[in-house]
Amino acid sequence: MRSSSVRVLLIGAAGRMGKTISDLAKDDPKIDVIARCDLGDPIEPAMRNCDVAIDFSHAGATTEICRAALQHRKALVIGTTGHTTEQRSTIEETAQSLPIVFASNFSIGVNVLFWLTRKAVEQLGGNFEVAIVETHHKMKKDAPSGTAKRLAEVLNATKKTKREIPIQSIREGDVVGEHTVVFSGPGERLELTHRAASREIFARGALRAAEWIVSQPPGLYSMQNVLGL
Ligand code: NAD
Repeated sequence: MRSSSVRVLLIGAAGRMGKTISDLAKDDPKIDVIARCDLGDPIEPAMRNCDVAIDFSHAGATTEICRAALQHRKALVIGTTGHTTEQRSTIEETAQSLPIVFASNFSIGVNVLFWLTRKAVEQLGGNFEVAIVETHHKMKKDAPSGTAKRLAEVLNATKKTKREIPIQSIREGDVVGEHTVVFSGPGERLELTHRAASREIFARGALRAAEWIVSQPPGLYSMQNVLGL
């Protein structure tokens, strides 16, 4: 075992993201995946020897993951999406005692898209209507995507409104993930689009978040905190 590396428990290890993270971690000297869990495996015993648990599984696992992390005082990186309000509250409460990175999207490009969206609202002003279009592969379980919901939060927070932002969700083929924010004004339209070509961008971001979070104090952090955006 590499003594200076970050010891990771991977939850959802048999899934698309779990496999991608495992593959990347093999070539990362700073990461050591010491345990793996998937559906049906008890999470608490697997949590004992890690520094941080990375979760890309299902929102239904969140309560058990938070309970186990609290019991063993471990940091968390949560990439799973589709949480209920109650499950999100559980994450927020747990983050009062533990450091947690919770991000609907771990790619650098999408986090720059959040930043650009804020800037666009500030510059375009109130005359522009906004909408979001997101496209993902047919197997994706939640809709709208966590990233689309986060973009809507960014739009409302910057506009200082609580309006329902129209989100169109398209499920087709094997699309990894595409998000467009559309600003429609009198006589012109501005579109900001991010296209993910590979799951590696999320996996790389999650590993970077795992390395970063282990030295942070308790709190709820976003990928923008990790990237310093
Ligand atoms: P997937 O269906 O391929 O994999 C999920 C895995 O989790 C499966 O192997 C499943 O058996 C396992 N699982 C389900 N319930 C579990 C439980 N209770 N305990 C342990 N394991 C459990 O899905 P995926 O494409 O790998 O995505 C996983 C999650 O990550 C989804 O919520 C997806 O939206 C999200 N995601 C987030 C990002 C991001 O950047 N934050 C990127 C891609 C996917």
